[in-house]
Amino acid sequence: MTQIALLPEIDAKPPHERPKKNYKLYRQLIRIYGSGPEGEVCAHCKHFYRKRYANTYFKCALAGDTNGPGTYWRARWRACGHFEPREEPWTAA
Ligand code: SF4
Repeated sequence: MTQIALLPEIDAKPPHERPKKNYKLYRQLIRIYGSGPEGEVCAHCKHFYRKRYANTYFKCALAGDTNGPGTYWRARWRACGHFEPREEPWTAA
């Protein structure tokens, strides 16, 4: 007798073993735009922004926004060639 799956398969891998889709997207941006100024990070770029809901999510305006983890961004990532300095300093809060 065969069993019918009533629930979809769940990806049981812990989060740190799952592919980092957003990092893949970041690497594509680096490949397209090249590396930015030495020592600069995304947090200092005017395209980097945060979305606040119940939590805070960081995004890059040039990478798009899927409203999901595929476009999460990191403040400490090395800047790409499209880096433009922020007019106001980045604050962590
Ligand atoms: S440097 Fe700016 S444009 Fe480039 S990936 Fe970071 S936030 Fe996006």
